[in-house]
Amino acid sequence: MNFQSKLPDVGTTIFTVMSQLAIDHQAINLGQGFPDFNPDVRLLDLVSKAMSEGHNQYPAMAGVPALRQEIALKIETQYGHAYDWNTDITVTAGASEGLMASILAFVRTGEEVIVIEPFYDLYISAIKLAGGVPVSVPMLLPDESSQVYRVDWQRVRDAITPKTRMLVLNFPHNPTGIRLQESDIAALETIVQETGIILLSDEVYEHLVFDGYEHLSLARSPILAANAITVFSFGKTYNATGWKIGYCCAPEWMTTEIRKVHQFLVFTVTSPMQVALAQYMKDPKPYLDLQSFYQKKRDRLADGLAKTRFKPLPSQGTFFLLADYSALSDLPEADFARWLTIEHGVGVIPVSAFYRDPNAVHSNHRLARFCFAKRDDTLNAAIERLTAL
Ligand code: PMP
Ligand code: GLN
Repeated sequence: MNFQSKLPDVGTTIFTVMSQLAIDHQAINLGQGFPDFNPDVRLLDLVSKAMSEGHNQYPAMAGVPALRQEIALKIETQYGHAYDWNTDITVTAGASEGLMASILAFVRTGEEVIVIEPFYDLYISAIKLAGGVPVSVPMLLPDESSQVYRVDWQRVRDAITPKTRMLVLNFPHNPTGIRLQESDIAALETIVQETGIILLSDEVYEHLVFDGYEHLSLARSPILAANAITVFSFGKTYNATGWKIGYCCAPEWMTTEIRKVHQFLVFTVTSPMQVALAQYMKDPKPYLDLQSFYQKKRDRLADGLAKTRFKPLPSQGTFFLLADYSALSDLPEADFARWLTIEHGVGVIPVSAFYRDPNAVHSNHRLARFCFAKRDDTLNAAIERLTAL
């Protein structure tokens, strides 16, 4: 049969490939972003209780009402935006499904979607499956004037054409670890006011912003919230990435369209977890404590790397930090990540995997992404191996 793949350039995601390589070579896996410890036992007990109390059949298509009510309350308390729990919030199978459903719901054949490079791998494939055309706008690399990556909003504005349907954003940012600043919000407000573009805002690392700063959700700005789909993940917030539960929030007219897709992608999301999360969320402490919990881990890894031949870059948020390996090797990033995993027993992710063309020169800056969402003894053991390099 003369079959042409809809995604000819796509293989298995880098996260799966590098985790498998780490398993095959008994390497310490600082690649794929997931904690190597359990969620809070109180949350686990609530799930067991929900199951034994009979929450095992299909819940509401948009999510258990009590959970959506808690989500609405949390967002209003934190970000000051009152999403209507019934019409604006949908519980999804991880942030992934919320992102995919949003792109499928709004992007038509031939329409352009702007993504900021480097980017999380899901966006481009989702846009292509919808028949859309991804348009990437590169971030500014760290230089003498800034130690961290930045977005040049003028470049974003210049990329907008009459065909542009959507702008995909992800802050705190995977993989660079940058957070949004007030000046970014102001720039985005101008763009939205001038163009009316839909914003798809992947905020899965909302609680992982360090050094005393707060996450600037797009939901904080009435101008942005009116045009935005904000997407979150319980996996990151409650150290339960394997549960695959998240949610997306948007004005009612957008949510109506997203649910049309959601109901056929998955219909609804596992019920005992939703019931348990609705209870557990009533206490803000677990997510408020995340910042200091993970900041210590970031510092442990950054301080450890600073004593090796790696040069860590500042990480303002997420589970990740980038480190420059140019004092160690001239290899392109993908080869370096494989070499480090196989020969030295520490798995990392090449940052080039977050670019349209991972093999291009402009995608390779001798940077590796390290995940610090790991037990202290895991981080210590990895640092020991890296120090020996
Ligand atoms: N967006 C970003 C930026 C991510 O890093 C991830 C990965 N965990 C996701 C979305 C997907 O989140 P989830 O596991 O909740 O689907
Ligand atoms: N978001 C995780 C990361 O960046 C991976 C999730 C996945 O494997 N799909 O490492």
